[in-house]
This record gives sequence, C-alpha cells and structure tokens, in this order.
Amino acid sequence: KNDLLVPFMTTKGITKDGQSMALYANIAVGLEAEIAFSRGAEGIGLFRTEMLFMDHPQAPTEQEQFEIYSEVVKAANGKKVIIRTLDIGGDKPLAYLDLPQEENPFLGYRAVRMYPQYQAMIESQLRALLRASALGDIDIMIPMVSCVEEVKWIYQLCHQCAEQLTMEGQSIGKWRLGIMVEVPSALYFLEKISSWIDFVSIGSNDLTQYFMACDRGNIKIKSLYDSLNPGFIAFLRDIAVTAKRSGLELGICGEMASDRRALPLLLAMGFDEISLSSPNIAMLRSQLHILDSEACQCLLVEVVSKETADEVRECIDAFWQQQS
Ligand code: PEP
Ligand code: MG
Repeated sequence: KNDLLVPFMTTKGITKDGQSMALYANIAVGLEAEIAFSRGAEGIGLFRTEMLFMDHPQAPTEQEQFEIYSEVVKAANGKKVIIRTLDIGGDKPLAYLDLPQEENPFLGYRAVRMYPQYQAMIESQLRALLRASALGDIDIMIPMVSCVEEVKWIYQLCHQCAEQLTMEGQSIGKWRLGIMVEVPSALYFLEKISSWIDFVSIGSNDLTQYFMACDRGNIKIKSLYDSLNPGFIAFLRDIAVTAKRSGLELGICGEMASDRRALPLLLAMGFDEISLSSPNIAMLRSQLHILDSEACQCLLVEVVSKETADEVRECIDAFWQQQS
C-alpha cells in the first residue's frame, strides 16, 4: 500500500481551487460496502445486484434481498447509496428464467426490457429496496433505459409498490429514482423524463459500446472501443449539459470513471460524483486535489477538437505534466 495515499482515504474529492466531485464505490456484493467505506468511498455509486440473482438456483426472496440492501445502507451510515435493479439477459443469463438464445444479445432482451414479463420478480426487488430505505436513504437506479415509456412504466411501478407497502403498514424512508445512461438515445429524452427522476449515472462501458457500435468484449475491435474517442467525449459533454439543464444529479459508474486521463474531463463536465472500484479511490482523489477547474475546462475544449483518441491521450498526458 502506498503511504502517500493514506491521507486521501479520509478526505473528500475536491480540486485545488475548491470544486467538489465526490468519489463513490462500485460494489457487487453487500459485504463490499464496508470495505469500500474503509477505503474512503463517499458513497456507493453502483451496487450491481446481479450476483444476488445469479448465485442462486432461483430468484432471491424479498426478505433475503431486504437483508442485503439493509446491510449496505447501514454500512453507509447516512452516506449516499445507489442500488441498481436487475441487469440481466443477453450476455448475463439466468437459468431459472429460461431466456431465449439471441443472435445479438447486447441489442436484445435484457435489463429493463424484460421487467414487464418478470414483473413479480422486479416487484420483489423494488419492495425490498423501499423497505430497506426505512434504515437509510436509497437511490434506485434502472439499467439500460432506452425510451420514455420504460421510465414511465418503472416510475409507476415504484409508486405502486410504495403505496402497497404503506397499506400493509410497512415503513418506507427516503428514496429516489434514477436511470443509467447507457443507450445513446438518452441524450434526446433526458429532458422529457426529468420530472420523474432525480439523477442519472453514465454507464460508460455500455454507452461507449452503443455509441461506437462496437462490442465491448470483442478484442478484434478493441481499438474502436475507446471512451477517449473525441466524438464520445463530445457526446458525453452534451449529455452532461442536458442533465444539468434538466436539474438532474450527474454521476458516472463505468470503467471510464477510474481512468486518470478522463478525470479532468469529467470534472470539466460538472459531474457531481464518479463511482469506481474502491482500491482506486484514494489515488484518483489525490489526483483530483492537484487539478484546477478552469484549466480542465480549457483541456476539454481542446480535446474535443482532436481527430483521434491517440491525439486525445497525448493532449491529456501533456496537460498532466503541467500540473503540480
Ligand atoms: C456500464 O455499462 O458502464 C455499467 C456500469 O454497467 P455494466 O458494466 O454492469 O454493464
Ligand atoms: Mg451497463
């Protein structure tokens, strides 16, 4: 462990000139929450709940889920917790759902697209999340949203579950709804759904894949799958502008969030939080502390004018050399 980073495990994410950007952690099992907080996470920015469902011969019960979500909010002790609803299908099968084989699983029947067919299962997850919110605030995040109807549907289902729980005499705390931005169409519907949700988080892994029409796991086209492509950076900037204009909190939880090169760009775009695997938090926070927000704004302008991702990298590397 690098001793120089120890101080950055307890501070908050802030630039040299005082612009805040919180560093949250991505987790995949409940137990990881406590470890993440011990490493300096200012919140949980993405709890991928798939493992809960994939580890079992059948779907976990509402009570089993409630206990795990409760454990995470208790570990958070008042810090922000964003829990993502089930993101399966396509490349992530579930034996007990009997999903069809597909020719294009990444473009197929996955995540929120499957929710209406498996409504009872999704209701059990939403109910467990709402019940756990009684022990600490929960932000519920929906994956792979690609149109307005999906948001409307899930918004109504959340409120229906909340009303049902209240009628049953169960207590519910503060909860909010948000979506992942992973499908490029989001840029053009964010404003229209802004009264139904409170926040968005960029899933840069999938967003890059769909923006570049490039399978995120195919090594033959690895050089195309690049979040530092200048077109992608300009696209991300436009999403950020739209999200802010629509009054939505803005985060990012894909791999791009842990890339030191992307850090000054995300800061310039006004991200409220970036979420990454917890071992990298202290390092990135130490880097954030030496940045100047105005210099980052200039860098962003310069970077989007470049032609290639390699030129973008050169430009960012030269920028970092000038920081002290
Ligand atoms: C993403 O797509 O960037 C993301 C965070 O979701 P996942 O990697 O789980 O698809
Ligand atoms: Mg994704």
